[in-house]
Amino acid sequence: MSSESGEVDVMHGLKNVLAQIEIAVNRRSKDLPKVTPRLVAVSKIKPASLVIQAYEAGQRDFGENYVNELNEKSNNPELLEKCKDIRWHFIGHLQTNKINSLLKSPGLYMVQTVHSEKLADNLNKQWAKFRKEEEKLKVMVQINTSGEEAKSGVEPSEAKILVEYVLKNCPNLDFQGLMTIGQYDYDVSKGPNPDFICLAKCRQEVCEKLNLDVNNVELSMGMSTDYVHAIELGATTVRVGSVIFGARPPKNK
Ligand SMILES: *Cc1c(COP(=O)(O)O)cnc(C)c1O
Repeated sequence: MSSESGEVDVMHGLKNVLAQIEIAVNRRSKDLPKVTPRLVAVSKIKPASLVIQAYEAGQRDFGENYVNELNEKSNNPELLEKCKDIRWHFIGHLQTNKINSLLKSPGLYMVQTVHSEKLADNLNKQWAKFRKEEEKLKVMVQINTSGEEAKSGVEPSEAKILVEYVLKNCPNLDFQGLMTIGQYDYDVSKGPNPDFICLAKCRQEVCEKLNLDVNNVELSMGMSTDYVHAIELGATTVRVGSVIFGARPPKNK
């Protein structure tokens, strides 16, 4: 094991998370869509060597929230060689001037954080230059379920407008679902996480108003501390980092 990867046992972390996911799926309310949740392993700040380890343990979906880092990691020669079927998910705040750098990253699979019509337009336009064959770029619309100013995403009441915009005006984008980050420190002993409830309700409304099948609209919600809870409330994609790759150093801002 390289010194870079330190003491982290990625395979153990992954196996544990996958086992927890399975248990959570069985506890999920029966009226929720029976979609097996997708685990996106969030590798931000962690070296490409750990991504390769996770890939070799069977993981395929990975998430990054900085464009430069995703671009760099996805172009790592060893990773390119060993992880041919990797699927990168962009889960950070996307600025217009970073779009090209993101879209040219090899293995880019989905952008989960579309938060405005302008961004949707830009992605739609630029993807035409970067895509292979006629493949569309998968996107999710980010919803600010917690109403915190620092979080990006549209208000829940505006979800339908942005989803409709993507469906009608962005032929190069393939709408996949709704994503939220939500409050970081929610105490589950107080009851179901309101962010998760809100996102599920949002999907209900969007589907009713736009005549979409709920089974085809994903909910991306839940991280290391609450992915089990999120799945019980209907998450179809969970984004889990630190319990797989080890804790990240605190942000020094
Ligand atoms: C970092 C991050 C995650 C994963 O967080 P962990 O607590 O390490 O699981 C999930 N989603 C987003 C948007 C993130 O930025």
